[in-house]
Amino acid sequence: MKLLPEAITTAIEALSDLPGIGTRSAERLVFSLLKNEIGLEKKIGNALHDLKKNITECSVCCHFAEENRCPICKNEDRSDLEICVVESPMDVLAMERTHAFRGKYHVLHGVISPLDRVKAENIRIEQLLNRVLQTPPTEIIIALPGTTEAEATSLFLADQLKQIGCTAKVSRLARGIPSGGDLDYLDAGTLSRAMLDRREVS
Ligand SMILES: [Zn+2]
Repeated sequence: MKLLPEAITTAIEALSDLPGIGTRSAERLVFSLLKNEIGLEKKIGNALHDLKKNITECSVCCHFAEENRCPICKNEDRSDLEICVVESPMDVLAMERTHAFRGKYHVLHGVISPLDRVKAENIRIEQLLNRVLQTPPTEIIIALPGTTEAEATSLFLADQLKQIGCTAKVSRLARGIPSGGDLDYLDAGTLSRAMLDRREVS
């Protein structure tokens, strides 16, 4: 016996595929959309339908962008000499909220994780190395989360930078960051402190 019409079940299943949304939350969302009278489901549907249409990756930092270069890379008030390497676009937003950094970013779109079959070539490491060769910075701040995979990725990155002859100072965020914690869960104060107290990778 089917408890719910097909369209509702399909919507619940689709939403529960999202990270952090279980079946119960998905049910709650779908039922509230069904009750909603101002056409929120259409608004959401349209927004999601067009989500990937005009989005590309910045040719410099790999952050999401609408043009060849993102607004941060285009901003001439920001220094090219400091590059802050982060795991995801969400971390750029978290770092920007701290106002503690006036350089530019590099978004890896992941960390190396053998268990999830993510290898170095699956994330934007090569783009970073090419970028560093083209426009050598004076400091590279590796701002990755405190997970084991991120740790391994940081070490790999520092080693790769050394191998291409990069002479920039390579530093890491201070460990005010809880291990296993994502940057975007940190409050701006903790994150900006971690940025200010960063230390060189030896
Ligand atoms: Zn950019």
